[in-house]
Amino acid sequence: MPYYDLRCTSCSHEFNQKASVADKSDLRIPCPTCGSTALETVFKGAPASFVKSSSEPAACPHAHLCGAACRHG
Ligand SMILES: [Zn+2]
Repeated sequence: MPYYDLRCTSCSHEFNQKASVADKSDLRIPCPTCGSTALETVFKGAPASFVKSSSEPAACPHAHLCGAACRHG
């Protein structure tokens, strides 16, 4: 079952809950603080694949001369 980051729209409590898709769509997940089932899904940050690597080598300053055969990188 997937985990969901949920926020209660009643008391604003945020929690992580393991639940089936059916449990979530049928509003069978109660808020642990107030018991409300009026929850919204919280999306946090961007997936790691969107984070650009900082160790990427700088572009070759002679790329206009050596093109695809460049070994300066
Ligand atoms: Zn609540």
